[in-house]
Amino acid sequence: MNGKNLAVADGTVVRIEYTLSLADGEIVDSSADDGPLEFLQGAGEIIPGLEAALYGMSTGERKTVVVTPDLAYGEYEPDNYQVVPLDAFEEDVPLEPGMAVEFFDEENDDTVEGYISEIQPDGVVVDFNHWLAGETLHFDVKVVGVRPALPEEIEHGHAHSDSHHHH
Ligand code: ZN
Repeated sequence: MNGKNLAVADGTVVRIEYTLSLADGEIVDSSADDGPLEFLQGAGEIIPGLEAALYGMSTGERKTVVVTPDLAYGEYEPDNYQVVPLDAFEEDVPLEPGMAVEFFDEENDDTVEGYISEIQPDGVVVDFNHWLAGETLHFDVKVVGVRPALPEEIEHGHAHSDSHHHH
């Protein structure tokens, strides 16, 4: 099989260049910052709405994809916040609204990320919505590589790219 003409399908590793902007045109992310994104197609490594739009594309093809919140980072949930006591934060870190914070959730043995939305006298209001929750996302995406996944990649459920070795 000629890898150059391989189309995006489940079990292929895809590299894309992309620009992500919001409905008002503001650019919030771009592969120009960190280089192309590489992932295993069909493994849920990227948001469902973008993954679905890539099937059948091949190297060199470009597309504009509009993804609604339900197929991106979900709707914004107003109740998804917690007031965290001030003493839960390290004293030497100045707190300000918009700052990303991370907590260890012992119940789920995992870290959860949030954003400080407000600082009150008795605690810090932390918003646990994803920062792109509720947003309709506009991707300008270009496929810059498609290759068959390695057996280990299929087994692990993610691509093994040069910049992304974790085992
Ligand atoms: Zn792996």
